Amino acid sequence: MRTCTLVALGLVVAAASAGCAQQAGTLQAAAAALKAADIKTIEYTGTGKWYQFGQAPSPTQQWPPFDVSAYTASINYDVPAARVQMTRKQVVEPEHARPAPVEQKVDQYVSGAAAWNVAAPAGAPSGTAAVAQPQPAAVEERTMEIWSTPQGFVKAALANNAASQPAGSGSEITFTAGRNKYVGTINAQNQVEKIRTWIDNPVLGDTLVETTFSDYRDFDGVQFPAHIVRTQGGYPVLDLTTASARSTPAVNLPVPDAVRTATVPQPEATAEKLADGIWYIKGGSHHSVAVEQGDHSVVVEAPLNEARSMAVIAKVKETIPNKPIRYLVNTHAHFDHSGGLRSYVAEGATIVTHELNRPYYEQSWRAPHTLVPDRLEQSKKDPVFETFTDHHTLADGQRAVEIHAIQGSGHNDAFAMVYLPAAKILVEVDAFTPAAADVPPPAAPNPFSVNLYQNIERLKLDVRQIAALHGPRLVTLDDLRTAIGQRARPITH
Ligand SMILES: [Zn+2]
Repeated sequence: MRTCTLVALGLVVAAASAGCAQQAGTLQAAAAALKAADIKTIEYTGTGKWYQFGQAPSPTQQWPPFDVSAYTASINYDVPAARVQMTRKQVVEPEHARPAPVEQKVDQYVSGAAAWNVAAPAGAPSGTAAVAQPQPAAVEERTMEIWSTPQGFVKAALANNAASQPAGSGSEITFTAGRNKYVGTINAQNQVEKIRTWIDNPVLGDTLVETTFSDYRDFDGVQFPAHIVRTQGGYPVLDLTTASARSTPAVNLPVPDAVRTATVPQPEATAEKLADGIWYIKGGSHHSVAVEQGDHSVVVEAPLNEARSMAVIAKVKETIPNKPIRYLVNTHAHFDHSGGLRSYVAEGATIVTHELNRPYYEQSWRAPHTLVPDRLEQSKKDPVFETFTDHHTLADGQRAVEIHAIQGSGHNDAFAMVYLPAAKILVEVDAFTPAAADVPPPAAPNPFSVNLYQNIERLKLDVRQIAALHGPRLVTLDDLRTAIGQRARPITH
């Protein structure tokens, strides 16, 4: 099949050779049909579903759905910049005992190399004023959303010397913008039907994002799809029915000073000794726990990404010197708790996880990481796993690390907590997130926390302290009892 390189000369698309004139005509015709040259800004609204990428209730299920009651995307293609406002509420399936869903209003931005959200600070009382919060990790994804619109795709194709080849009754158009490759199909009606691109993710590597457009209509003189479906990592992330589209709004999205002057904080890890040989490795939103053994150490949890893992690994090696990290215990596969696992594979650690997670990680980790080559991409090590369904103990005679499946949780089907019997410490995450000391317990108990307490009772674990991997402080079992509305009771052991 012949591939043609297309060059935009002002408003005319030229082909590099005479034989490619028809291919140049396809992009030219699509640009004309979509008014791509005239349209500098676009705003479209709709309703539908949004799905929380990376937070599947089990490794074999799709991302969890939210009902979207309002969605507005405002794009300035020239900058490029975009704002997405969304009102959404999680769909709670009856089979999953989840906290009552709360309506979320999101307001997120990208402009050039800056991305930010406008929201009240996390944990602030309701009514607190919204402020701009830098989101540097979101730039790639939000920029992708700009070029993954019909008009944006054609503009970017024209600006980036796209290649074209016949595909079915239309054409396949390919170009690279920044580090991201885009492949789109234009049908015989000069409509952009599908756009595929790849963005980085710490778990999935080069992650396919596929946007499909159908049911094109004339919205106020703009040809725009009435239905947009986007998948990311194999499952839907957006399914939008368009209510309106217009090409004339002023879209001015200046980067706030607080975002422009922000520096990206380097991940920091601190070590807080909890008991002999046991340290709480804290920092930011996601923590880990390190346990010293006779000739090695064990780390519980590899959250977020490689940068976080490198900070934790360095702190563990400093705290427990001259002992390799032989095991990494993973609580569940949600991406914010598994994004740092690959770094431990590269480090030579065995990954200990629920058996349902193993095939998911094995398959996911085979994907190339060419956009952001991590240490595992470079070392090409094969992951080594130890899996369990119910419980598993790591012990070298000194300080046992007991791993227990959390049964019946609506949070995740392959979910574990860690109990350290020598110090009577429980390590858990997402089942119970302690609040700051001065915050009253929630009016309605969180069903994940109720379930955690039931699991502690089922296993008759003698828990003195809970090292939660989210949250500001070490707590006690009484704090968990209080949070679920049970009267605190004295420890009787
Ligand atoms: Zn989770």
